[in-house]
Amino acid sequence: MTGSEFTPEHLAVVMYPHPVLRHPAKTIKRVDADLKRFASRMVELMYEHRGVGLAAPQVNLPLQMFVWDPTGNRDSGQAMVLLNPTISRPRSSDEAEEGCLSLPGLYANVIRAKTIHLNAYDITGREINADFSGFEARVLQHEIDHLHGMLFIDRLSPQNMREHENALQTFSTDFHSRQRLGSIPPEPELREHIRHWEQRYT
Ligand code: ZN
Repeated sequence: MTGSEFTPEHLAVVMYPHPVLRHPAKTIKRVDADLKRFASRMVELMYEHRGVGLAAPQVNLPLQMFVWDPTGNRDSGQAMVLLNPTISRPRSSDEAEEGCLSLPGLYANVIRAKTIHLNAYDITGREINADFSGFEARVLQHEIDHLHGMLFIDRLSPQNMREHENALQTFSTDFHSRQRLGSIPPEPELREHIRHWEQRYT
């Protein structure tokens, strides 16, 4: 399901090594009712998958948008949709375990800045400027990496990476066999889908 036939009901978390995960997301220049519906569905999906963050490329939308709730609790009232985020003023560093909804079951230690400054916009266009530290700073850095086509596995030490090579190979084999069987569209169709969504919002 690609292009304009792709509605919020079609949103699903895509798995590594889906090419959209490596495609740098474009700056969003307009927000419409459809984009708001996609964002709401992303929040639901994040909770369904028991995540604390979900970036638009992870649901096959090549846009600078992510949703997050550091509590992971759907009753927290803390879910936020952020657009066009940038991080600045990284300070000190911290190592902790991370996972990713696009690499289920894979966990590894990642070094991140301990505190950061975030600039972003909410879905109504209101500008947000705030400092974050610890777990919240980590989640934000992980999600913003997604918007640049980066995954947490790119930040592993070579030794740590070797440890996970077999698991990554399994994800690859699975992805390509699904593509051969037709449940994942072929490359040209995936590229056309990206082009369609970029033209619509960027
Ligand atoms: Zn992730």
